[in-house]
Amino acid sequence: MSELIDPFGRKIDYLRISVTDRCDFRCTYCMDEDVSFLAREHILSLEEIVFVAQTFIAMGTKRIRITGGEPLVRKNILWAIEQIANTPGLDELTITTNGSQLAKMAPALYNAGVSRINISLDTLKAKRFYQLTRRDKFQQVIDGIESAAQLPFKRLKLNSVILKGRNDDEIYALAEFALSRGLDISYIEEMPLGIIHDHDRAATYMSSDDVIANLEQTYRLTPSTMKTGGPTRYYQVEGYQNRIGTISPHSHNFCDTCNRVRLTAEGRLLLCLGNEHSKDLKSLLRSHPNDHQLLRDGIIEALALKPQQHHFNLDETPQILRFMSATGG
Ligand code: SAM
Ligand code: SF4
Repeated sequence: MSELIDPFGRKIDYLRISVTDRCDFRCTYCMDEDVSFLAREHILSLEEIVFVAQTFIAMGTKRIRITGGEPLVRKNILWAIEQIANTPGLDELTITTNGSQLAKMAPALYNAGVSRINISLDTLKAKRFYQLTRRDKFQQVIDGIESAAQLPFKRLKLNSVILKGRNDDEIYALAEFALSRGLDISYIEEMPLGIIHDHDRAATYMSSDDVIANLEQTYRLTPSTMKTGGPTRYYQVEGYQNRIGTISPHSHNFCDTCNRVRLTAEGRLLLCLGNEHSKDLKSLLRSHPNDHQLLRDGIIEALALKPQQHHFNLDETPQILRFMSATGG
């Protein structure tokens, strides 16, 4: 039974954990090239992360997603993944990754108990990959996807952020790449998280409806009732087993069904991606190590702060100054 019900009656049974704000890529919509990262002492230790995760599980959390920054560049992350995945009460442990480490880590992730992986891929062109991520690791990511696809994960999904004029000409090619390999794919609308200098987010905005209209030129799509705990709206694709989804923070607000909270790399419990309401769990953990009860009380207190919804507006200067990488996407 979940102890976590927010002031609007929503049951919170999904926790996303950012295990690091660091990353081996610099995706243009996510961060600038010269972004500064948190000092190591400000980041939760892996033991602290496991302690928070296990406290949430004892309070009724059923799903945990490990994310970042790039979660797979954190040293010894497999240890923490294994500890969390094997905690009784948890239904599934999933991760979101840029894929750069998957070629070498996919088997270990499977053995550690990861059931589903979301892999970010915005283009199938090596040169454009470099332009979008500022790193020359296209083939490494493709090899990582192919390695993961060889293993019996419950589900693999590509995540593609579509920017008008940058990669919207690859919407169909990305779908074909995913579906032909037995992967799902979600298209994400860019969110105004953090100030970036590469482009004007309002100018590159592409709505999920436009993405779907583009795909419908080739595929027959039927809205699906499938839910996986996240904000994705899925479509069944005629002739394929796998699904196409959209994540539309602008055009289809999904706050009424929100079931999740986020633990940032520095140990803040963030109640909503699009608001700053949060509680500092790190100081609780460090002043009273191993005190499950105090942490439980802190989490319940934090939940009372959960706002009803986000208010993203691309025409305003971003209200949210933190980057997606610090928060955990
Ligand atoms: N590094 C990992 C990755 O890229 O998958 C995990 C963290 S990343 C922050 C999680 C997801 O957030 C990725 O799919 C990425 O494309 C997406 N993302 C990052 N910044 C975004 C933004 N401003 N708007 C929408 N999605 C964003
Ligand atoms: Fe790194 Fe993921 Fe952000 Fe790209 S989207 S810079 S891979 S954290």
